[in-house]
Amino acid sequence: MRLILLIAALLLPGGLAAKERPVTVLVSIDGFRADYLARGITPRLAALAREGVTGPMRPSFPTKTFPNHYALVTGKHPDRNGIVGNSMIDPRRPGVMFSLGNDKQALDPFWWSEAEPIWIAAEKAGLRSATMFWPGSEVPFEGRRPSDWLRYDKNFSNVQRVNTLIDWLRRPADMRPAFATLYFDTVDTIGHDFGPDSAEVNAALAEVDARIGELVDGAAKLGVRLNLVVVADHGMRAIDESRRIKLEDFVDPASFILVEGGPYAAIEPVTGTDDRVAEALLVPHEHMTCARKENLPERLHWGRNPRVAAIICIAEPGWVVGAGTPPHPIRGGAHGYDNADPEMLALFIARGPAFARGATLPVFDNVAVTALLRAVLGLPEDPDADGKLADVKAALK
Ligand code: AMP
Ligand code: ZN
Ligand code: ZN
Repeated sequence: MRLILLIAALLLPGGLAAKERPVTVLVSIDGFRADYLARGITPRLAALAREGVTGPMRPSFPTKTFPNHYALVTGKHPDRNGIVGNSMIDPRRPGVMFSLGNDKQALDPFWWSEAEPIWIAAEKAGLRSATMFWPGSEVPFEGRRPSDWLRYDKNFSNVQRVNTLIDWLRRPADMRPAFATLYFDTVDTIGHDFGPDSAEVNAALAEVDARIGELVDGAAKLGVRLNLVVVADHGMRAIDESRRIKLEDFVDPASFILVEGGPYAAIEPVTGTDDRVAEALLVPHEHMTCARKENLPERLHWGRNPRVAAIICIAEPGWVVGAGTPPHPIRGGAHGYDNADPEMLALFIARGPAFARGATLPVFDNVAVTALLRAVLGLPEDPDADGKLADVKAALK
């Protein structure tokens, strides 16, 4: 009888098992290009990479923030996770546009319901999850949410973000998350403003590196072991006003809606003008390639979702395509290019008791991160996911 009680205590959530269990933490440093790690200004990340596993990670197309953050936590490319762009339209919601800044749409579960994020899978399995920001984490999925979550606030400082997570780790074992996320936007923001090769980006890298150090040291001080996975959503590439493609040079801007512009353009012809827009765009152009969504290369895994606009133009790396006055000045850095662009490659580091030590992975697709996290959390592999554990098996101990 006593033995049975002991076994039950070990297995029940909040029992000894929970106390001893390492916490899995997924950290995103938005816009941390894979090769930033070799600049020699991020010693804490370099140490994690040395003690764990690292390797360049291929983002999903489009190489934008929301589609890739959702790919990382669902194991599905944007076409199948439903977040096909930072901005998108849906024929089931005529006249409405989803965008990062439009809370009414961005916080509506309608857009996020095509794939289950890992914090929900964890909660369903009885593992407490906590999100210190992550796109999609503020939105209920099948009516459920992470046990702890916060509404995104860009002004919530990086120090506050780390301290919030450390406070969660400080809790008694039965209240402590088994899985948590942490998100930093500053490297991306500064990368856009000043470009990837700027002193300002280097300063932002050093600052975030110090925050990662505080997380690692804070957890160690509490005696909480971490299975830490540090990723980025995409890289960053220098852009310039001199490398700008204006769609109005080819076609009347009144004949289409520009759903998204920049390194790629998502173009939806307005009713009755489909042929005119297609005729103008589906011809060879300098510095960009346009195609109907159904004719995009298979390797992009993108174009079948009804939310993808009818015509897609992808700019040559370093160029941008748009119409009218651009929303941001064309200088500094941008991302959104073909995911085969080496400058879109993203950071990946995994370090902790679950991971191999001192291993380097060849380039892999970011959708495999969910499979890796599920394995570490003891969740079964999702047979419906695009990313397979086999792609990152070498990352596990
Ligand atoms: P991008 O336009 O692709 O560079 O997107 C990066 C921006 O997304 C950053 O400046 C963040 O402030 C913003 N962002 C990140 N997470 C969220 C969120 N959960 N809700 C709203 N905006 C976010
Ligand atoms: Zn981003
Ligand atoms: Zn960005």
